[in-house]
Amino acid sequence: MRTPRRLVLLGHPVSHSLSPRFQNAALADAGLNIRYETLDVAPSDFDATVAMLKSEGAAGNVTIPYKERACAACDALTPLARRVGAVNTFWRDDEGRLVGDNTDVGGIDAAVRDLLGDAPRDITVGLLGAGGAAAAVLAAAERWHGCSVRVHNRTPARARALCERFRAVAQPVDDIRRAADVDLLVNATSVGLRNDDVPVDLSFVARNAAVLDLVYRTPETRFVHALRERGHRARDGITMLIEQGALAFELWFGTPPNRSVMWRAVQA
Ligand code: NAP
Repeated sequence: MRTPRRLVLLGHPVSHSLSPRFQNAALADAGLNIRYETLDVAPSDFDATVAMLKSEGAAGNVTIPYKERACAACDALTPLARRVGAVNTFWRDDEGRLVGDNTDVGGIDAAVRDLLGDAPRDITVGLLGAGGAAAAVLAAAERWHGCSVRVHNRTPARARALCERFRAVAQPVDDIRRAADVDLLVNATSVGLRNDDVPVDLSFVARNAAVLDLVYRTPETRFVHALRERGHRARDGITMLIEQGALAFELWFGTPPNRSVMWRAVQA
């Protein structure tokens, strides 16, 4: 089993994160004598902090706004991290290199399978947003057989640039109604994170669409709540959050965590 000497979540801000809660529960359950701590790093301190963590033999996660910057800071990237262009998980390997991976993709894949009951196949997906989370959705969609993704973003140029990188599965759409008239709709914008705004007019969402909101709030986002009331299968971002954390845990320690313990810690 690999043993990082320190485990951190790098971000700015990070105090809102649920990750310490469920990671520390899983660490205790596995009998590992290490704590998962948050590290709120100002942008000007980011490079020095990464260098310090590398010298300490630390591992961890990266969150907003550093996932893209972490890509450049790592000595080596997994093919998936390179494909997404963002790192959310890192560790120091046996040769002393800082390695970056992206477990958000696996987290999204698990959340979608959980929502649909199986891997998506031959369906049309609508994707709202064109940031790092949206890139992870498209990297996941590349593995879904026969799926195509309509991408809508508030800033259309960003959607076009993202679709250019994922040309085999993604096409930009300027009309948000086309992005919502799909089999599976994924919200990868930050709308709904701090208030009850919804990312698209609910009446535009196709009647039979399943909906995954990557945003999570307690008890759930208004988007998810309102869609479920209208009869949609709809989930928020908690499944993705826990699954990306579980996959990261396995990369750090070479053994999977107890996912039930993680869930209980979040729901407590
Ligand atoms: P990001 O790179 O900052 O991208 C934010 C996206 O939201 C952009 O497409 C942006 O559009 C859009 N947006 C922001 N405010 C908007 C508004 N008022 N109206 C319409 N669009 C708006 O962030 P990210 O890393 O992709 O993350 C996006 C969200 O995903 C986060 O806020 C988080 O809630 C969620 N997330 C969840 C998990 C999880 O584990 N569940 C993991 C990662 C992310 P513009 O390009 O026009 O600015």
